[in-house]
Amino acid sequence: METSPLAKRLATRFVAGDTLDQALGAARRVGSEGIAITLDHLGESVASLEEAAEARDVYLNALSALHDAGIEGNVSLKLTQFGLDFSYDQCRANVEQLVRRAASLNGFVRVDMESSAYTQRTIDLVADLHARYGAVGVVIQACLYRSRNDIEELCRRAIRVRLCKGAYLEPASVAFPRKSDVDRSFVELMKLLLDRGAYPAIATHDENIIRQTEAYAAERGIPRAAFEFQMLYGIRRDLQRRLAAEGYRLRLYVPFGKAWYPYYMRRLAERPANVLFMARNLFRQ
Ligand SMILES: Cc1cc2nc3c(=O)[nH]c(=O)nc-3n(C[C@H](O)[C@H](O)[C@H](O)COP(=O)(O)OP(=O)(O)OC[C@H]3O[C@@H](n4cnc5c(N)ncnc54)[C@H](O)[C@@H]3O)c2cc1C
Repeated sequence: METSPLAKRLATRFVAGDTLDQALGAARRVGSEGIAITLDHLGESVASLEEAAEARDVYLNALSALHDAGIEGNVSLKLTQFGLDFSYDQCRANVEQLVRRAASLNGFVRVDMESSAYTQRTIDLVADLHARYGAVGVVIQACLYRSRNDIEELCRRAIRVRLCKGAYLEPASVAFPRKSDVDRSFVELMKLLLDRGAYPAIATHDENIIRQTEAYAAERGIPRAAFEFQMLYGIRRDLQRRLAAEGYRLRLYVPFGKAWYPYYMRRLAERPANVLFMARNLFRQ
């Protein structure tokens, strides 16, 4: 799929391009609308520590390029891409290099959250690096039962949290099986983060939850500069423009790179209409 020109055309809906330059172009375009970005170099579950080191180098470049281009941006990475499946220590050393660079450039590294098998290790690694350098934050998934405790602990340590619903299929032993429960959990955790979090990021395209976030912030007198909304590149651009126009801070997650297939499949799985959209376009070609 990743080498098929036809499939690649479809992926451009959610992916900024193959190269860092294309991603910077997308960053400039959305920047002109007052929207910030976080760059994600696609690729997860690398096959060796050598590949993990290559991924780290791409990220080091991306941070420097953002800084040199004067783009307000940060980067988002996955620990499996940095070698977590092979060695915790080597993965940590890779991320440490990046966080050190971010701290020196006044930048920021967001560690994405993968499936629940990685949750504790991800939080431990981020907490450890945060204590030394700052400049790093994590993602918490509203679908997991453990998330309230995790957020309370992260707030105590003033570690920045991005709250999302959760994109991985999880067993009922660790996560709410029903979407309505995930949504309810998201709203509760959003309130906790707005009350106690260090510059939290509310990452969703769910209009109802976004409205509840706006209302809660207004009710508690929380300034718009104290938190940000985050959305994925290419999803609900209407909503993105509205939030930016209304003076809310908004950051888009901008993926780039050749290894777009797993990312694209998660986006399709989130919304059956996307599969129809893809199929219609395939037949139109
Ligand atoms: C900035 C950002 C970072 C993220 N980081 C992580 C992470 O680190 N770990 C993780 O597990 N998950 C992450 N996610 C994904 C997240 O967990 C959800 O899977 C994803 O955001 C869809 O949920 P939703 O909150 O938009 O709500 P939903 O209830 O799924 O969707 C609400 C509405 O948004 C629109 N929408 C949502 N998804 C799509 C789509 N794919 N295509 C078209 N329209 C769509 C539709 O209008 C839908 O009705 C991230 C999401 C964002 C926005």
